[in-house]
Amino acid sequence: MNSTSLQEILSKQSNPSLGLYIHIPFCRVRCQFCAFYVQIQQEEKILAFLTGLEREITLYGKKVGLENVPVTSVYFGGGTPTVLSSRQLLHILDGIHSNFSVQSDAEISLEAHPGAMNREDLDSLRSGGFNRLSIGAQSFDDRELLQLGGRSMSLTTHAAVEAARQSGFENISLDLMYGFPGHTTPSWKRTLDVTITLAPTHLSCYAFTVDEGSQVYEKVEGGTLCAPDEEMQTRLAEFTREYLTVAGYQQYEISNFCRQGFPCHHNLRYWQGDSYLGLGPSAQSFVSGVRFGNLADLDLYGSTLAGGAVPVEQVEVLDPQEIQRELIVFGLRTIQGVPMEHIQNLSRGDVQWDRALNTLKSQGLLAEAEGCMHLTNKGIQFADNVAVTLL
Ligand code: SF4
Repeated sequence: MNSTSLQEILSKQSNPSLGLYIHIPFCRVRCQFCAFYVQIQQEEKILAFLTGLEREITLYGKKVGLENVPVTSVYFGGGTPTVLSSRQLLHILDGIHSNFSVQSDAEISLEAHPGAMNREDLDSLRSGGFNRLSIGAQSFDDRELLQLGGRSMSLTTHAAVEAARQSGFENISLDLMYGFPGHTTPSWKRTLDVTITLAPTHLSCYAFTVDEGSQVYEKVEGGTLCAPDEEMQTRLAEFTREYLTVAGYQQYEISNFCRQGFPCHHNLRYWQGDSYLGLGPSAQSFVSGVRFGNLADLDLYGSTLAGGAVPVEQVEVLDPQEIQRELIVFGLRTIQGVPMEHIQNLSRGDVQWDRALNTLKSQGLLAEAEGCMHLTNKGIQFADNVAVTLL
């Protein structure tokens, strides 16, 4: 698509604020469970990607005309952003500052591999503007880390958290994974105990999934690995909620927990229907009711940008009712839920949707409290089914 037509579409929408997501599509090795668009790092490919990304940042800022929209969060994800050097990461961040209106109090997050960070890099990243680190710990059991494949040893995560604190990062999140084949409550409890000792401000606890395109998918399909036990996953999810609540963490989304005042503001955008612009191959965007996604091909991404066009492969302009439905479905992922006035607006204009909602309530999956509709504990287990029903 050329940048002028996307500009025309976006110029008809109003954008009170924006979050930026930067997709760094490289990893050192591919984890067994991963089905994301990533490539194994190669210097030549990284340099070509950086050239494309620089062009994309300039295109959206200057040509598409988003340069004056206040940017309240920037999130570097992947892939593994820390396969880039701190100099390269800071160069990208400088380009963002030159082309967008990044607010002085913006949350600027970096997903980091625990084994790829030294004190010197962390010092320069912190002083260069990054103020939040999300470290992919996964587990604090070395045997489990080997089973998941491609991860560091647990002591590396301890050292990474320690070094990040010394460099001045106060806002540190750890990513953990539970419910893989063979996982047990005692071993998950041990990982949570170590995590609590490290006192991160934020935790993401994801259930192990078998996604098409991953190595584990092939193994499960080929019969060499058992699929995860759903009952065990439900048990561990409930255990996680209770254990982390007692430890002073507040669950604010199905998979996310934080100390008071430390939710991930960038991710909240996804669940609250706020605008975000994704840059980099395969990155997804939602800007004021327009959903669009980038080409999931590094070469095509680069050549499209070299020709002066935005590397977008599909654009969907949602009508007001579709926007309302999405707002409700994504909002239900938050523990607080969705204000009843949003629910009532949609219920009034769509009898079928209202009927579906009432069925979910009668099944005990949704409930009303404090002026909001929210998922019940049972609803959290079946969140994906609820979403499909309400979309
Ligand atoms: S580090 Fe993340 S993106 Fe990279 S292979 Fe592992 S799960 Fe996938």
